[in-house]
Amino acid sequence: MQIPFLSLKDVTGKYSSEIHSAVSRVIDSGWYLQGEENKKFEADYAKYIGTKHAIGCANGLDALIWIVRAYKELGYFHDGDEIIVPANTYIASILAITENNLKPILVEPRFETLEIDDSKIEERITPRTKAIMIVHLYGRCAYTERIGEICKKHNLKLIEDNAQAHGCKFGDKRTGSLGDASGHSFYPGKNLGALGDAGAVTTDNQELAECIRALANYGSQKKYVFKYSGRNSRLDEIQAAVLDIKLKYLDNDNHNRQQIAKYYYENISNPKITLPERLNDVNNVYHLFPVFCEQRDSLQQYLKENEIQTLIHYPIPPHKQECYNEWDCISLPITEKIHNQELSLPISPVLTMEEAKEVVRVINQY
Ligand SMILES: *Cc1c(COP(=O)(O)O)cnc(C)c1O
Repeated sequence: MQIPFLSLKDVTGKYSSEIHSAVSRVIDSGWYLQGEENKKFEADYAKYIGTKHAIGCANGLDALIWIVRAYKELGYFHDGDEIIVPANTYIASILAITENNLKPILVEPRFETLEIDDSKIEERITPRTKAIMIVHLYGRCAYTERIGEICKKHNLKLIEDNAQAHGCKFGDKRTGSLGDASGHSFYPGKNLGALGDAGAVTTDNQELAECIRALANYGSQKKYVFKYSGRNSRLDEIQAAVLDIKLKYLDNDNHNRQQIAKYYYENISNPKITLPERLNDVNNVYHLFPVFCEQRDSLQQYLKENEIQTLIHYPIPPHKQECYNEWDCISLPITEKIHNQELSLPISPVLTMEEAKEVVRVINQY
């Protein structure tokens, strides 16, 4: 039995007829940008996340870039200001900060939770700190009450990178509605994935929403009148239509991920393998299922020989990337340990329980 890490063909295939008819509807409408499909998806997504506004844009990186940029345009952030961000994240979170000439302050995660260590945030705050960007990495909620208190006490904006956690909750609120603004990616492999690139910003702040809507549309609020020097970063009507269909099934799809994760947690018993601290299902939508092993590369090879495909998220931490060579000398041991030992097991809305059983059987024999 060949077990793929993620079969996107099957993920789309699950809703194939509805998706085909929505795509045909848009094709036949003759209206491909900034129309009714965008409006409907934005309204439905804002309602789902629990914010007043959702603004569609081209991808998740742009969504994060626009949040930081809009705070600059509105006079809250300035060149050289600092934003606290977890050191173990996908590069996009950090690029969104440096792209805007602000300074990322890398804070270590906890190895047990993989999320930013909220006990190490306050010591890094300086007079230039303007925001904390939390990243709900692997689908796990990174927000804590302490982070909320730190933001209040120091008057910091709270930005969420919700690219990996659509549907996740903290209490009865969804991630993406916990801070001042949140960036979402609908890259095909994400929990809510489009058939290409797509993204969105959610916020309750109308001023910020209007600014971001303009920035992502050439900086224009009125046709041929340009208030900001923006870019073309719009969400296609076809993608909006597809996303609106998949949004209806997101909780169901996440439920399947949670069932697989439950099985992994209850049955992986190999002492060479460490699992992250288990959260309640409401707090984890299992975008990925990371496990840790000191002989990670040999484990991956062994699984491959047994026809189980795995991926590493991520092999090189941001501070060791060539594009950030100014950070080469800094030491972030927890982040480095995570990157050296992490391996992501197959998990998806279409992975079956039989496949999960086979993964566990093989991994327990390693
Ligand atoms: C995928 C991802 C992004 C960027 O999204 P794109 O749509 O690929 O630009 C940002 N942050 C995190 C944590 C991601 O996983």
